[in-house]
Amino acid sequence: MDIGEKKVLLANPRGYCAGVERAVQTVEKALELYGPPIYVRKEIVHNRHVVQALTAKGVRFVEENEEVPEGATVIFSAHGVAPDVHTSAAARSLRVIDATCPLVTKVHNEVRRFAAEGYDILLIGHQGHEEVLGTAGEAPAQIQVVDTPEDVDSVTVRDPERVVWLSQTTLSVDETQQTVGRLRARFPALKSPPSDDICYATQNRQEAVKAMAPACDVIIVVGSPNSSNSQRLREVALEAGAGAAYLVDFAHEIAEEWLGDARTVGLTAGASVPNELVEDALGWLRERGFSTVEPVTTAVENIVFALPQELRAALRPAPGRDS
Ligand code: SF4
Repeated sequence: MDIGEKKVLLANPRGYCAGVERAVQTVEKALELYGPPIYVRKEIVHNRHVVQALTAKGVRFVEENEEVPEGATVIFSAHGVAPDVHTSAAARSLRVIDATCPLVTKVHNEVRRFAAEGYDILLIGHQGHEEVLGTAGEAPAQIQVVDTPEDVDSVTVRDPERVVWLSQTTLSVDETQQTVGRLRARFPALKSPPSDDICYATQNRQEAVKAMAPACDVIIVVGSPNSSNSQRLREVALEAGAGAAYLVDFAHEIAEEWLGDARTVGLTAGASVPNELVEDALGWLRERGFSTVEPVTTAVENIVFALPQELRAALRPAPGRDS
């Protein structure tokens, strides 16, 4: 191999996860079925390109149900919603299609179960993030959000023998374990979630970045600033030894000076990023001499989620009619 060769290490897996694929398809199918405008509460997934493309097709993104005309169709985003959001939609007679990722729903179910059993729930996650608001809304009186390891010191519980930790799905695996360690030091009887709350896609993307980071002068993460899992990829890249790491929404945001005399650039993308944006970044790098691309594969994903049942029911042909 030419010692001076410039190359790209391409993380695999990267980009779209099954929950995002399903959420974006949900909006596209609803557009086909009902025609524009379709209303989506919050960004369907945290990606600027996806939101812009769907807006151009006739999707109207709103912050709250009150902005949706009575009786219209509203889609809830992949991040999930609190029960009161369903209540306010029903009050406005909205046709709801819930695109909450099934892996977020799993955490909601855990909250309901532990709350019913009388536990205090310590939800590790980012204060104010849509997913955390939705999850905490399942049992507001029994949940405390633990955003940083320092928050652990101010947690108070009713009964230290009945405490469980749960988490947002898109956190850093290592950082979360550190926070859990601090929580357990305070509450030795702390119960863990029945299975990982940090989802397979978040974990796999972080593993791939960790594997390639030590060999990378620079890592480019394609993803939006409000995407939690994309932000974590940038942090994990730095912690795992990359010389530098940057987050960009689009290839044209990559700055020439970030590359300096880099020979090896790592490339990955958050779970809400369509592949065409990764292709754009590869093209940008190719134009600057990074023409060799080596995949770094740490997992193979084949998870697919069925569309929301409200949509499947509407797409089903009427009985007695040929499809
Ligand atoms: S990142 Fe994980 S939890 Fe979030 S939509 Fe994707 S699969 Fe679901």
